[in-house]
Amino acid sequence: MSINSKQQVKCPKCGNISDITVWHSITVGDSRDLKEDLLHGRVNIFRCPECDQTGLMPTPILYHDERERLMLSFSPCADPIEASRQYDKIRKSSKESGELERLKEYNLRFITDFNALLEKILIFDAGLNDKAVEVIKLMILSQEIDKSEQRICRFGKKDGGALEFMVHDTIENQIYTSSVPVESYDTIWKSLLESGVKPYSFDWETVDGAYATRLLNGFNN
Ligand SMILES: [Zn+2]
Repeated sequence: MSINSKQQVKCPKCGNISDITVWHSITVGDSRDLKEDLLHGRVNIFRCPECDQTGLMPTPILYHDERERLMLSFSPCADPIEASRQYDKIRKSSKESGELERLKEYNLRFITDFNALLEKILIFDAGLNDKAVEVIKLMILSQEIDKSEQRICRFGKKDGGALEFMVHDTIENQIYTSSVPVESYDTIWKSLLESGVKPYSFDWETVDGAYATRLLNGFNN
């Protein structure tokens, strides 16, 4: 069930107080529109009616797509230690409440970055698995290894026979696109499955660049 609440927010720039509807839970089956709003940056984004200041509300969102068997737990958090604490908390509560038992053959992802949340939705909507996509992103970034630290790669879309990625260079402030044939994805995904990577989750998982690095170093899941 999609759940929201009304909150009063004080603008950090001009101090104006305004009301905002904050979403805590989004169930795609309830509302396609809400999902579209999320993907277009209209959910939990504060916009001050006085001065146009914008910002993301620091509110966790649970995203559930029953048809795709996908559940994304978004906890906005930039501090890795706090993120790890939040991750342990959700794993513990899902286990104790019996929720994990009910989510068989689901993909369960724990996410702390808002753009990564939107990216995951696009990846699964395109019929892809993010484990293989994260490996491809590492490969794209490793093409210019000396700049890989300053670059962020995100999946954009599946366009015919190609997967399109956006590479944002945070130092040069440039955005590049990079295209990868779907066959390359298929080959990588097949070899990951053969090496023991599971196409669904047994517990909440964090699937990011660090995860892909561990996979390439020979650890499964
Ligand atoms: Zn303002």
